[in-house]
Amino acid sequence: MKKMVITIDGPAGAGKTTVSRALADRLEYKYIDTGALYRGVALAAKSQGIGADDDAALEKLCDSLALTFVWRQGLLRLVANGEDISDKIRTPEITMLASAVSARPVVRKFLLTVQRDLGREKSAVFEGRDMGTVVFPDAEIKFFLEASEKTRSYRRYLELKSKNSQSLEDVEKDMRQRDKNDSTRAIAPLKPAGDAKIIDTTDLSVDEVVELMLTHIQRLV
Ligand code: C5P
Repeated sequence: MKKMVITIDGPAGAGKTTVSRALADRLEYKYIDTGALYRGVALAAKSQGIGADDDAALEKLCDSLALTFVWRQGLLRLVANGEDISDKIRTPEITMLASAVSARPVVRKFLLTVQRDLGREKSAVFEGRDMGTVVFPDAEIKFFLEASEKTRSYRRYLELKSKNSQSLEDVEKDMRQRDKNDSTRAIAPLKPAGDAKIIDTTDLSVDEVVELMLTHIQRLV
């Protein structure tokens, strides 16, 4: 099979992470979670007391931030300047802060280079918000996942349940706010690429979504 970049975009809770991982496994591709990179910047900004709208300080922060992925026991881990921050970036606070810093052009410019470097060897599934529109406009195949708001917030709630005590209502509220930030920001807003295959996952199982994607991919090879 020829080496491809596969992009999977969509809002929170649409099933991107589970499906991207499963698809990458099936194809023996790398899986890259680009949301983790925005979360990494947010965590670094928080620990240095930098406000989400302080562009000068964010730029300086990015200049000194080395974000890398490592695969440990089959799991993708995010390392920032030598520290494994994979667990620290999953709190509700960092989630909202990631959405805020992701609207800043200095942050997007920094991460654009990081992401394109990661895609140089292809054979990778990239999950995010602007993979098909901005980061890899020439990707061999692009998907955009959607699901009803109720389904998305319930999925997020179940996913977060073991990690924190946010109620379903709070998860719903945060998700709505994040969707609004992500899809209305001036730079690289969340939207499907013109040539993306749109899949509504509301009533589909993970396997069904992956099989559907593989059908599209097989048409290319
Ligand atoms: O995917 P995840 O929920 O981890 O992403 C966290 C935040 O990072 C998103 O709400 C979005 O604001 C930002 N993000 C982005 N572009 C991407 C991936 C994530 O703006 N490609």
